[in-house]
Amino acid sequence: MIKYVSTRGGASGTFTDTILEGLASDGGLLVPEKYEVISEERLSQWQNLPYPELACEIISCFATDLTKDKIREICHEVYTRAIFGDDIVSVKPIKLAPKEELYILGISNGPTLAFKDMAMQFLGKLFDEILNERGIKLNILGATSGDTGGAAEYAMMGRSSVSVFMLSPKDRMSEFQKSQMYSIKEQNIHNIVVPGSFDNCQDLVKAVSNDLGFKDSYSIGSVNSINWGRITAQVVYYFFGYFKVIQKSKKKLMHPVSFSVPSGNFGNILSGFVAKKMGLPIKNLVLATNENNVLDEFFKSGIYRVRNPKETFVTSSPSMDISKASNFERFIHEIFDRDSKYVSTLWAELEKNNSFSIDAQSLANLKRESGIVSGASRHVNRINTIQRVYESNQLVVDPHTADGIYVGQRFVEDNIPMICLETALPTKFEGTVREALGFVPERRDSLKNIEDKDRRVYEMSGSLPDLKNFIIKNAKIN
Ligand SMILES: *Cc1c(COP(=O)(O)O)cnc(C)c1O
Repeated sequence: MIKYVSTRGGASGTFTDTILEGLASDGGLLVPEKYEVISEERLSQWQNLPYPELACEIISCFATDLTKDKIREICHEVYTRAIFGDDIVSVKPIKLAPKEELYILGISNGPTLAFKDMAMQFLGKLFDEILNERGIKLNILGATSGDTGGAAEYAMMGRSSVSVFMLSPKDRMSEFQKSQMYSIKEQNIHNIVVPGSFDNCQDLVKAVSNDLGFKDSYSIGSVNSINWGRITAQVVYYFFGYFKVIQKSKKKLMHPVSFSVPSGNFGNILSGFVAKKMGLPIKNLVLATNENNVLDEFFKSGIYRVRNPKETFVTSSPSMDISKASNFERFIHEIFDRDSKYVSTLWAELEKNNSFSIDAQSLANLKRESGIVSGASRHVNRINTIQRVYESNQLVVDPHTADGIYVGQRFVEDNIPMICLETALPTKFEGTVREALGFVPERRDSLKNIEDKDRRVYEMSGSLPDLKNFIIKNAKIN
């Protein structure tokens, strides 16, 4: 059975403990004690598996305290046409320049039109199974700037074992994002609108979580981007995308490919890095940021400097507007040979100075070993990329996907397919798409006029007692 350990050296538990716990008790993040390396023979057995079967194989490498039958049952219930459409995950070649082999990996076909559904739907079902088995209830508390909250709510709605309390900033989300979340009627979903920005929401969540007595009494949990269950479920589409592209481009198994990943909290690209550690032939992982270039700066200079709210820009790819990258610690831990003392030192320094740095030699080694290369885009680049992709391919992409395509193109190499992850669909960000193209693609029927639906939200004052009272009144009690 695989144990989970903290990046700071303490704590250990099973996969199940890890996904219920969130942060390790020493403040670090939990990671598996080792990664299983998949042989070429096994890759060859996996290459034609349907998505739910492949998901079962890969998730079984991490969730060793669950039976394979249980995992299979969950994957077959979650990765369905009803939830994710006909292909679950689609692969489309696109042409932008001669000689380039570019592909779009469609991972945003779920209910909220962003890739976060891929992991969150799995996690929702898994939580339900575990909680019912243990006979306990959980109240999930979170803050969202847009996509995570919606994905969590659509994954948890109607489940008897969980309630969701999701804080969102009053003025910062697209109309579509608001409508999608606030029109949910299920009694176990509570949307709480907070005056101010995402940081206000995050601060309130932290304040509640730091009150250990309250957290315990009301059985408060989380599904934020550091949840290891999410990282695990995301590993699957790197394998699936690899196999499909290899087949479409008539290359042999083990031929390398690269992936381009629009990045914020380093969750998605971390899953790609894990896939590489497991032996998937990935040449480069292209890390694309927007104007909030914390991570691009690190991979260029070795300096990791987190931003304060004033230095964090509001951009046209808002789901990547981050001031720090929550999953980054897992990467540093792995790449520095799991030296938890060193990780603790770096994060203590970060706490003190808002930054740390590594030397040039370490940076070069880290880039070589991980294959991560990076770049940043600006608004004009996204608009331009949306236009170019449409003109040459009659395909409309969202602004986050455009970030990835724009940066990814710089790292295209001969005979190495570049697979660009589509992290959201254009319907979710119609404002920017209309600015680029003068029109927006037609919505699926269930989403037409979503803005006109009745909304059910609690507009809170912004004070901690107000939030706690609301939770006390509405929480599921064990
Ligand atoms: C969450 C999100 C991202 C960033 O993903 P990370 O895992 O945080 O790096 C990029 N694009 C979209 C559309 C998202 O919702």
